[in-house]
Amino acid sequence: MATIEENSPLHEEMRVWRHWLHQHPELAFQEYSSSEYIVKILESLGYTPETGWATTGVVATLEGEEEGDHIALRADIDALPILEKNKLPYKSLNKGKMHACGHDGHTSMLLGAAAYLKQNRQFKGTVHFIFQPAEEGFGGARVMLEEGLFDRFPCKAVYGMHNWPSLPVGEFVVHQKEVMAATDAFSITVKGKGGHAAMPNETIDPVVISAQVINALQTIVSRNVSPLDSVVISVTQIHAGSATNIIPDDVALSGTLRYFDNKKSKQVKKRMKRIVKQVCKSMGAKGKLRFELGYPATINTPEKTADCILAAKAVAGDHAVHCDRPPSMGAEDFSYLLNACGGVYIWIGNGEGKGGCLLHNNHYDFNDDVLPLGASYWVALVKQLLPLSGTLDHDPC
Ligand SMILES: [Zn+2]
Ligand SMILES: [Zn+2]
Repeated sequence: MATIEENSPLHEEMRVWRHWLHQHPELAFQEYSSSEYIVKILESLGYTPETGWATTGVVATLEGEEEGDHIALRADIDALPILEKNKLPYKSLNKGKMHACGHDGHTSMLLGAAAYLKQNRQFKGTVHFIFQPAEEGFGGARVMLEEGLFDRFPCKAVYGMHNWPSLPVGEFVVHQKEVMAATDAFSITVKGKGGHAAMPNETIDPVVISAQVINALQTIVSRNVSPLDSVVISVTQIHAGSATNIIPDDVALSGTLRYFDNKKSKQVKKRMKRIVKQVCKSMGAKGKLRFELGYPATINTPEKTADCILAAKAVAGDHAVHCDRPPSMGAEDFSYLLNACGGVYIWIGNGEGKGGCLLHNNHYDFNDDVLPLGASYWVALVKQLLPLSGTLDHDPC
């Protein structure tokens, strides 16, 4: 059962916070007013938050009734460069910016948990509430780590949560290991020889060669990678040419590579380089491939998942917690925090209906019905991980 009930005063408060954040979306490392708003709420709850982590990040700390382990709970606070198409009373006021990934909801749920736990400190240990900027592609988590997050707040484990459209409200997914993929960007240059489009025989046409390169790259996943492994190679951008009667000198391609296993990704990258170079060479052009490393894979610490499963079941019931769902090929910078100190990242259902459309869609909206469930999960997890001495069963029989 959820500790924080539906339509309780705290649910209403979380709804108000969520709508304010939704109305004031800010992009990576520019979440100044969001950060100020979070600080104002935390201070009103009796916290003394630390600000300025990775520019706009906030960390608040709560000690339980007894001393014990330290853990961290993290929410992301940034929005996306999307023009909102919703007709909501709390629609984005910042044109071209939108909370289309539900980080407004994540922030409000963590604030809700901070509010509840401040009044209910029956746990043995310390909780650090991390409000992290710049999850959407800019690695705010990495920057916080570089600034010494876990030196300042040493933790036994760190926990994260993301809403998941299509998963019904009231349901959770806890993965044993892989949750989200690693993501690297790549860019390719195909250098040919430009000329008149009516005399292609006198040119080395990089457009035609690029088409061969794109097709050949698709054979890596279908022919070189084991069918049991997960890899994605998507060419997502092609830039070339200036007129219909000119064959250009070169073509620029770029895209994304997704995977879970670093070792296997090295083989894939080698194969990509070979294909680009050799396909181009066979047609008289020069091909160059460059990678830009992105987020590592988000992989849960298997021995820490049991507590999360129990906490989610305490909120949602035994049948509403799934441990057998496939991971996503999306990516998450929570991976840096997991790599630094271990922990677990779970999904919470955002539902099919209202607010159920895809993440990063211009009609997306976080589902307010989820707020008490997510905040209750945080509370249940703290109670599960940091039980008071008296509540432990010392009887070996
Ligand atoms: Zn996102
Ligand atoms: Zn997100």
